[in-house]
Amino acid sequence: MGTGGRDGLPAGRRPWRLLLDQVRPHRRMLLLGGALSLVGSAAGLSMPLLAKRVIDAFGTGAQLVGPVLGLSVAVLVGALISAGGRFLLERMGENIVLASRRTLVDRMLRLRVADVDRLKPGDLLSRVSSDTTLLRAVCTESLAGLVGAAFMFLGAVVMMALMDGLLLLVTLAVVAAVALMGTTIAPRIRKASLQAQVALGEMGSTLDRALQAFRTVKASGAEGREIAAVGEAAAVARDRGVTAAAWTSVAGIGAWMSIQLAFLAVLGVGGARVASGAMAISSLIAFLLYLFYLVSPIGQLIQSITQIQNGLAAITRIQEITELPTEPAAEPAAAGSHDPVGVAFDGVVFRYGDDRPVVHDDVSFEVSAGGMTALVGPSGAGKSTVFGLIERFYEPQAGTIAIGGRDVRDWPLGELRAALGYVEQDAPVLAGTFQENLVFGAPEATDEEIARALARTRLDDLVARLPEGLETPVGHRGILLSGGERQRVAIARALLRRPRLLLLDEATSQLDAVNEMRLREVVAEVARETTVLVIAHRLSTVTGADRIIVMEAGRVRASGTHHELVDADELYRELAATQFLVGS
Ligand code: ADP
Repeated sequence: MGTGGRDGLPAGRRPWRLLLDQVRPHRRMLLLGGALSLVGSAAGLSMPLLAKRVIDAFGTGAQLVGPVLGLSVAVLVGALISAGGRFLLERMGENIVLASRRTLVDRMLRLRVADVDRLKPGDLLSRVSSDTTLLRAVCTESLAGLVGAAFMFLGAVVMMALMDGLLLLVTLAVVAAVALMGTTIAPRIRKASLQAQVALGEMGSTLDRALQAFRTVKASGAEGREIAAVGEAAAVARDRGVTAAAWTSVAGIGAWMSIQLAFLAVLGVGGARVASGAMAISSLIAFLLYLFYLVSPIGQLIQSITQIQNGLAAITRIQEITELPTEPAAEPAAAGSHDPVGVAFDGVVFRYGDDRPVVHDDVSFEVSAGGMTALVGPSGAGKSTVFGLIERFYEPQAGTIAIGGRDVRDWPLGELRAALGYVEQDAPVLAGTFQENLVFGAPEATDEEIARALARTRLDDLVARLPEGLETPVGHRGILLSGGERQRVAIARALLRRPRLLLLDEATSQLDAVNEMRLREVVAEVARETTVLVIAHRLSTVTGADRIIVMEAGRVRASGTHHELVDADELYRELAATQFLVGS
């Protein structure tokens, strides 16, 4: 079930500290809200005392108006103050959720590509939306509730002590048993809650998988199976939730029973003392009222402890993400030089993970500045990985990669990426308008620059025909565009960054003749101004290249021009015969 330790409880008190870290910036609000709640509770605490006065007044025939009025005012004012306190605490809870969502999202988008490869998008989504929500209840109801309940509890105990020490001892003995029980139950609630959140994350990622491949799911007639898989994950979340609920209700029943037992014990002992004349009946009634005052703080205590366990589980999951290393800050660098740069790989060894096969096994090649170089080779040879390493999405285990004669590790990351234009193989287009997609990598691009990029990528005709021009939406993942158009939008986007090196991973899908010719023109034109490194699947790209690098099974096998390679390299000849000439 994913990465290490997600199921297990972290050792020690660390989650507690993390939870308090979330609350610390809001401590003033917490204090104010908590204080108001306390004042409200204090007003409540005076109630039995006033009730005792009313009852005593019955007996002595004294004035009733004063005590009854006092009682009403205490109740009303207490309720108002409590409500105000509660609102402040709720607001603080929302602020805590907001802060933790911001931190989490900030962290997520700065994670290293290698870590995100491992994580599931659906699970990440659930951490931002669902786990953070759990924090709200913890910080508002639970922490404040805990303090309020403790105050009520202590207050009631003090009042009871003042009335009758013996009865108090009877009460506390019974109540102590519950507390003991609570300490064994709390960790179980926390574990079940953590597992429920993990299951929720699983559900998110299963659903995400189905939605990402929606057409394939339908085309494969797999709706039923995917629905069942998501349902199953949801059922696991339910089961874990039920387990937590079971422990919560055990705790609740324990608390209730202890109060009932204490009530019976106090009634027995107190009744005997009233009969013997050692205690006034009004005192016994007030004592019993205070006893019932313990019910609500104990209930609150149980609820708070449960919610805090949920919160600790949530914060553990949030922390799993925020603890991952991030990339060094890659803020867009100020536009520096736009001169083309060369690339040099020297003895690069790379694997995607320690337990994964070697993808690059001593790769060395050089691409001089300017012009077009094509990377060819069977699929899986490691061509796309070359791009990932140039962009520093991954770090090689050995060897060096230099861009413009400078080791990529010596480039500030933002500057390095600003020098590169990267067109991924599936040429992702984001939901939004044409315009938004074009300026995605260069928000300050001028209208002229945009017009030029459109002309260079032969998209100007298309945009001119669109009803809303550049403001036309392109649909989710650019679904309203054809494959060739999407690819050229991606190229235009990369060009607007005025890259010193353009990395173009050609789509394997076949383009029609018109689109292919356009792409060839575009690439040839771009190669006159900047260095173009293209992973080629088509003869048109390859024959137009100044130089071709042939990769096979993680190594560079040969390099040269098309004609040189046809003569000298057997694999290239084969590739040319099948892949380029006959195939795609
Ligand atoms: P090519 O572009 O030549 O087809 P790639 O560089 O895409 O080859 O892939 C080379 C190998 O690396 C393949 O075996 C592929 O499965 C593996 N690979 C590619 N990307 C990843 C990744 N993000 N995580 C793990 N393995 C990967």
